[in-house]
Amino acid sequence: MKIRTKIAFQFTLIVALILVVFSVSLYYLLEGYTKDEFNNYLKDRAQTTAKLLINKKNLDKRFLKIVDRNTLSSLYAAEVLVFNDENLVTYSNIDSVNKFPYSPEILEKIRKFKYHEANYQNKKVVGLMYTDEELKKDYLILAQAEDTYGEQKLERIKEAMTIGLVSSIFLTIIFGFVFAGQSLKPISRINQEVSKITARDLTKKLSTGNNKDEIAQLARNFNEMLSRIEKSFELQKSFVSNASHELRTPLAAIKSEIQVALEKDRTPEQYKEILKSLNIDNQRLIQLINGLLQLAKSEKGDKSLQMVPIRIDEILFEVQDELQHQHQNYRISIDFEEIPDDDESVTINGNKSLLRTLFNNLIDNACKYSENNMAVINIRFNKSNCIINVADTGIGISKDDHEKIFEPFFRTKNASNYKGHGIGLSICKRIVDIHGGRIILKSELGQGSNFNVILPHL
Ligand code: ADP
Repeated sequence: MKIRTKIAFQFTLIVALILVVFSVSLYYLLEGYTKDEFNNYLKDRAQTTAKLLINKKNLDKRFLKIVDRNTLSSLYAAEVLVFNDENLVTYSNIDSVNKFPYSPEILEKIRKFKYHEANYQNKKVVGLMYTDEELKKDYLILAQAEDTYGEQKLERIKEAMTIGLVSSIFLTIIFGFVFAGQSLKPISRINQEVSKITARDLTKKLSTGNNKDEIAQLARNFNEMLSRIEKSFELQKSFVSNASHELRTPLAAIKSEIQVALEKDRTPEQYKEILKSLNIDNQRLIQLINGLLQLAKSEKGDKSLQMVPIRIDEILFEVQDELQHQHQNYRISIDFEEIPDDDESVTINGNKSLLRTLFNNLIDNACKYSENNMAVINIRFNKSNCIINVADTGIGISKDDHEKIFEPFFRTKNASNYKGHGIGLSICKRIVDIHGGRIILKSELGQGSNFNVILPHL
């Protein structure tokens, strides 16, 4: 079922229910009033007759009968009977008492309770007691009449209410549909606008209408989401073009080296030299591809990553060994600011291979980008974190580049004479994120660099 139909249906149902409850209660209230009104009239009628008959003793009963019949029968044909102590009719404004059947039980009830109301066939009956103060005699008066006027009134009210109810429900259905359509119009508009947005053109945005209501909020959120998707598309595009460029450079170098080698016959020594150079280029390619693979792996936020408690200092010593073995000119010093009392302060829940990559990149950069090829590593800890500072006195990074330094393929201008592809730090950032930590750079151009890695310990 469409939302529009659903809203219209629910709206109609609620309004119809309210109208029905209202109409039924109003009808029963009116019915009660009419009944009370008529019973009061009958009571008055009975009392008036009694007063005339009993108080005005010399009043001619036949005269009273004529007045009785002619004054009131035009509105209600009220029939009145007066009984004495022996339940004998002493006065009646109708000719045949049999027309007004009464049972001794009813008469007894009236005598007992002094007042009684009942329904007989279509008629209403009111009975009451009246005392003749002079003669100290009790009379029982019965008045009965058909409330034709009241019933007609109620019948008309019923008809009017039914017609009103049906037409109100009908109008509610129509207004419900129009109202639901009107309310859902902005959603239909958003729907149309969204269907026009394609992956090729994410610059299109939804109009935010009056900028105030929930729909405008939805459009704003959707636009923000589009901007984020657009940004990530752009990043991906630039990543692919950067990656292709980085891969093409060593491949082009390999190609030209092979072409030059094949130009003429060479001595075995010359071939050996060419193969060595090819091997170096190939090695660089492998390094780059490994880096890209690692970046892709960390981007995926691999859930299957094995996280185990690892001592940070152990990782750092392993990396130190490995780097110094690869580069004899590297000098790496590792120090604790204070010796930990327990293992937990320097133990973090992490992935060993990723943490090795992280510190390998940072320490390698520190040695690579400084003339003395020296990296100073300091380990600190506080209540919740273990802080590893990798410092060098190298070429430094200008403040303007601090934000971009962790983006893939970004390299500073002053690093152009150094080998590298600009993906190591973006991998580092990702690894730190995976471990729930932070990486903070403090550096100035020509003043060396400080990378602070903050990781939560056990
Ligand atoms: P690569 O070192 O392979 O170029 P990275 O992602 O590790 O890639 O580093 C990105 C860039 O950040 C480097 O090209 C360099 O410009 C700058 N950089 C990183 N570490 C340092 C450092 N310790 N000192 C100076 N510049 C650095």
